[in-house]
Amino acid sequence: MRPISYSRATDVASAVEAVTIDPLSDYLAGGTTEIDLLRQNVLTPRRLVDISRLPLTGVEELPGSLRVGALSRMSDVARHPLVRERLPMVAQALELGASPQLRHMASIGGNLLQRTRCPYFRDGVSPCNKREPRSGCSALTGVNRGHAVLGTSEHCIATHPSDLAVPLVALDARIHTRTALGERTHTIHDFFLPPGDAPHREHPMEHGELITAVEIPETPMARSSLYLKVRDRASYEFALASVAACLTLDGTTVTGVRLALGGVATTPWRARRAEAALLGAVADRDSFARAAREELAAARTAPTAMNAFKTELARRALVRALEILAAQRPARPGSPA
Ligand code: SF4
Repeated sequence: MRPISYSRATDVASAVEAVTIDPLSDYLAGGTTEIDLLRQNVLTPRRLVDISRLPLTGVEELPGSLRVGALSRMSDVARHPLVRERLPMVAQALELGASPQLRHMASIGGNLLQRTRCPYFRDGVSPCNKREPRSGCSALTGVNRGHAVLGTSEHCIATHPSDLAVPLVALDARIHTRTALGERTHTIHDFFLPPGDAPHREHPMEHGELITAVEIPETPMARSSLYLKVRDRASYEFALASVAACLTLDGTTVTGVRLALGGVATTPWRARRAEAALLGAVADRDSFARAAREELAAARTAPTAMNAFKTELARRALVRALEILAAQRPARPGSPA
């Protein structure tokens, strides 16, 4: 048994300082992922700083955006009236994640930083470049049905597990953090790093840097947005493929679209090729299918044939999400983008 010292932070500055000065320390918030990884010896800190009672909660309305405190509980954000009204795909992604018990404990910041569900990462012993750099990737030749087909490298093919991150990528969210030197802001597109040759590095934050809030820009089209999640069972399961989608039409022409994919890529995946293919196109099944094909053209399955089905699954999920939105929003001139 390894001893771990524990302290509870009373303010943000002292929490950041305590973790920054000790390279073997870590934050503890909801603990819904971290406790598992401690038990499995995947994480081995000697000190935990409990930040769960810091005043980083709540949903605040700012001009043109909503700011969500990083320690807000998933369940609180999912049922917040402003989130439900203006960002339904964010509320849906939160409600479709984990289980009710976990959603009552897990924080927004922790959700974004949760580690991959790759079993070789979590078993604590298999070669895994993400857990132990340059040790190899067991998934490449092992059981890889749940692994990624987009954004992979020869060093790691693990999917990013967060549902919440998918609509946040579609909406160009910003991540606010605090370091010992002051505050920083990361665009969400720079926040999730592809594995490349360093899969152990998942985000650009420095040791001790703490997420304080997520700011989600408002766009009128997000009010009729959708999060569609496809998984092996209807509850308490990670996505095999998921889609966050917003769509606006003028007549039958697509005038605005935001798309992101989850469950199929090493990072929450903004589907920019599909967006470009759809803008100005007729909003029908053929256009949706063509856009989905263009997005998934870069999907790579060899030598991991077990997950080859994900490419077609993601295509179909993308088409389905767009069809649902198009049916929900009868074409009318002048729809705002
Ligand atoms: Fe590790 Fe990534 Fe390979 Fe899984 S896919 S074993 S996390 S390197």
